[in-house]
Amino acid sequence: MIAFTDVYYQYEPEGITALHDVSLEIAEGEHLALIGPNGCGKTTLLQHINALLLPGQGTVTIDGMDTGAEANHGAIRSRVGMVFQNPENQIVGMTVAEDTAFGPENLCLPPAEIRERVARALEKTGIADLASRNVETLSGGEKRLVAIAGVLAMRPRYIAFDEPTAFLDPAAARRILEVIDKLYGEGIGIIHVTHNMAEAALASRVVVLNRGHISLAGTPEEIFSRIDILKEIGLQLPPAAELMLMLKETGLAVRTDIVRMEDAVCEIHSLFNKIKKG
Ligand code: ATP
Repeated sequence: MIAFTDVYYQYEPEGITALHDVSLEIAEGEHLALIGPNGCGKTTLLQHINALLLPGQGTVTIDGMDTGAEANHGAIRSRVGMVFQNPENQIVGMTVAEDTAFGPENLCLPPAEIRERVARALEKTGIADLASRNVETLSGGEKRLVAIAGVLAMRPRYIAFDEPTAFLDPAAARRILEVIDKLYGEGIGIIHVTHNMAEAALASRVVVLNRGHISLAGTPEEIFSRIDILKEIGLQLPPAAELMLMLKETGLAVRTDIVRMEDAVCEIHSLFNKIKKG
C-alpha cells in the first residue's frame, strides 16, 4: 500500500504550499484517478510516490518503506514505476528493445532474464513488432508505449501515470488506456493523473485535489454526483454524465448516476426499447 499521512510540501520557502495536509492510501491493485484544476498539485503528489520529492512535513510510505529514508529509495523505485507526461524524458535507448532493457540491465540481471523481461514488456504493451525500431522514428503514442514497456520491465507493483493520453489522437489514447486497463487487471496499482473526466470515470476510485488539498474521494459515480463542488472547483463532468443530465432535463426517465459512455449507450438503448413497446 502507498500511504500519505498529513503531507505538506512547499517548493520554495516563501512559495505556495503545493500539498496541504494530504492523507491518502492507495492499495495495490486499485486504479486511482487523480483529478483537479491546473496547478492543484497532482504532479507534485505523484512525484512523492517514488521519492522524487520528499514531504516537508508528514510521511509517505510505500509498502511500509518511508520515502524519507534514502536507503529505501532503490527498493521504492523498483516497486513504483513512473510514466512521465513527456516520454522523451525517460527514453534513453536507441531502439525500442534497447530502451526497454535499460532498467533490467542496470539491475545487473542475467542476460536471459533481461531478454525475457523485455519480451514480456513489449508483448504486454502490444509493441513487440517495434522491437528493433529506432525510437526516434516512432509516433507520440508509440513512444508512450515504449516508456510504459521500460517501466514494466522493472516488474513494478504500482505505476504512476502523469497525463498518459495528453496530446494523443483518440486511437492512440485508446491504445494507452487499454494497456492501463490490462495492467490494472493483472493487479498492478495504477495512479492516473488526468484532466480527462471520461478517463477518470474508468478508474475504480477518484481523488479530487484542489489547491494542494484532497477535497473529494470516492467511486467515479460518487464523485461525479457532486456537481456543485466540481463546478466550484472548475471541473467538468464526464460526457456520459453530462448527456444523462441533459436527457433528464428534457423529461426523459433516465438514470443520472451513469459516468461511462458504454453505460450511457446501454441506458439509452433500453429507454428506446421501452418507448417502442409503448
Ligand atoms: P497541471 O494540471 O497544470 O499539470 P498540477 O496539478 O500537476 O498542474 P503541480 O505541477 O503539482 O500541479 O503544481 C502545484 C503548484 O506548485 C503550482 O502552483 C505550481 O506552480 C507549483 N510548482 C510546481 N513545480 C514547481 C517548482 N519546480 N518550483 C516552484 N513551484 C512549483
